[in-house]
Amino acid sequence: MSLHPTDLTSPHMADEQQRAGEAQVLTSTPPALELDGISLAFREKRSSLPVLQEVSLTVKPGEFVSLIGPSGSGKSTLFHIIGGLLQPQQGRIRMHGRDITGERGHISYMPQQPALFPWRTTLDNILLGQENAPRKDAAASSRSVSERERRKEALQWLEQVGLGKFAKAYPHTLSGGMQQRAAFLRALLSPQELMLLDEPFSALDALTRADMQQWLLQMWEKNRRSVLFITHSIEEALLLSDRIYVLSARPASVVHVVDVPFPRPRREEITLDPRFVEWKRTMTGWMREEKYKLDDNINNAEGVHKNTSDGGVNHYE
Ligand code: ADP
Ligand code: MG
Repeated sequence: MSLHPTDLTSPHMADEQQRAGEAQVLTSTPPALELDGISLAFREKRSSLPVLQEVSLTVKPGEFVSLIGPSGSGKSTLFHIIGGLLQPQQGRIRMHGRDITGERGHISYMPQQPALFPWRTTLDNILLGQENAPRKDAAASSRSVSERERRKEALQWLEQVGLGKFAKAYPHTLSGGMQQRAAFLRALLSPQELMLLDEPFSALDALTRADMQQWLLQMWEKNRRSVLFITHSIEEALLLSDRIYVLSARPASVVHVVDVPFPRPRREEITLDPRFVEWKRTMTGWMREEKYKLDDNINNAEGVHKNTSDGGVNHYE
């Protein structure tokens, strides 16, 4: 199957040239994140559980990239490796061309559950990412001023996301969607350029989830941070992403790469586009295959896993 970007044709040569120039800059700029052949097996006594097998992927600066794969395939493990909490047995991680394998502090992370501290107000929770980040401006005299400024900026953000009235409220008084927005702001206001979002909406009901997807889409289109996003919703991945990496069943390897052809800004209506529906159907087929493999492996399992991947990656655009 082959799908192409919708009409972005420009009648002006100058535009063409400008775009060619931008493409040149993009290709010569090192990626915000590059995973190069990451492999990991959890080892216990005499058995070994291979979880990731030579996973390679790229997030360019300002790109929204999704990872999709069956439950238990190793997606969160990959985030733990990127965040420096786990060391891969093989492979390297580079950010902007620099090897950061095993190092912490380079990413902002939004876990599956909002993980707000119940004893801190909403405002103090979203300032946490900045407090924990290493400070470059260590001058004690300027600290109080910059703290005041950070609070002011955080308050403006809270207003923007409809939480202005909840700045001084405690998390338990916020709805699930509000807590997610606060957790997202905490990641957004952290100084690290790359955000890792691990199934941020999976605990929400369908309507709240759809609202949050629209909200994230608009926030991201305004702010263009580099994002790596885990989801197991195909529709969510197609709606939000520039590119999607489809992971196999465990041990996870990349089996498909999709350059999402829909222009931005995107809105919910895109999900009704016949090409969107077609992509969704194709990807559902892929995911079903992977799920069956995982089920088979669980049925045959003694913990040790056979390699189900054919080693090939299919790239679609
Ligand atoms: P996903 O996020 O794709 O659902 P995970 O990365 O959480 O999957 O887990 C992948 C596999 O690795 C699962 O089978 C899980 O049980 C196993 N696993 C995760 N963390 C550990 C660990 N610390 N020790 C042993 N096994 C683990
Ligand atoms: Mg997970």
